[in-house]
Amino acid sequence: MFAMTMTLTHLGTGSRGNATLLETEASKVLIDQGFSGAQLEKRLARMNIHPTEIDFIFISHHHGDHGGGALVAQKKWGLKVQANHRTAEELGLLPELTHYFDSLDIIRVSRDLAVLAVPIPHTGADNVAFIASHNGERAAIITDLGSWTDELVTHVRGCQHIAIEANYDHKRLMNGPYPYSLKDRISGRGGHLSNDQTGEFLAQVCTDATKSISLTHLSEKNNRPHLAESTVLLHIDEIFSGDITISLQDGPEKSHYIGQFEEKPSSKKQSLV
Ligand SMILES: [Zn+2]
Ligand SMILES: [Zn+2]
Repeated sequence: MFAMTMTLTHLGTGSRGNATLLETEASKVLIDQGFSGAQLEKRLARMNIHPTEIDFIFISHHHGDHGGGALVAQKKWGLKVQANHRTAEELGLLPELTHYFDSLDIIRVSRDLAVLAVPIPHTGADNVAFIASHNGERAAIITDLGSWTDELVTHVRGCQHIAIEANYDHKRLMNGPYPYSLKDRISGRGGHLSNDQTGEFLAQVCTDATKSISLTHLSEKNNRPHLAESTVLLHIDEIFSGDITISLQDGPEKSHYIGQFEEKPSSKKQSLV
């Protein structure tokens, strides 16, 4: 039998733009489009995909690094965008090419892909995490949250792949160049997750079903890949033995396969010491 998989590829993550490609046999969708039209086209071309092949763009919230390229994708390629009302309004999306979802809606994209929108706390935005389901397997894509809810834990627990931000190292942020008010905003309940918080969250949601994790949206000023990875692993070392990768600003990066693993055994993570 043909391996039934969903692939997830980060085309880039960080404060200068986010977009993640999800592909199944029947569909191709983007989660967020925070790039210019030219940048998106270039990044998709490296995957041999033209923007017009995208069935839907799901936008998590209206901040420029997530939704800033949604309108241009509608105008340039006639692409359909899925967003909640606040996000669509803030981005000035074209109503005829916009599908509106509410919190906890399950949006059926095709016969082999459905997407659930789970609200998450992020100041000044109606942000959502997305859980993509494919043949009973699930992948979570979560960024821009200062804290989390029990509801999010419930929906993310047992996902096969979890892509989640590890935005800043607490010490680096506090000792870094940002003014106090900005430090306060980033580290507050509606800001971003620190490496430690991401580790604490993952400790609550990782199960035997969790095969891979990607850490995304690292601050270039207040974080370092090795710090994010080692800090998160301290929290989940006992319970997680899958792959952990870091996604940076310039993609596309290594694809993650979600589904049945007849041919591709997942490799063990490297030891910390
Ligand atoms: Zn944001
Ligand atoms: Zn962001």
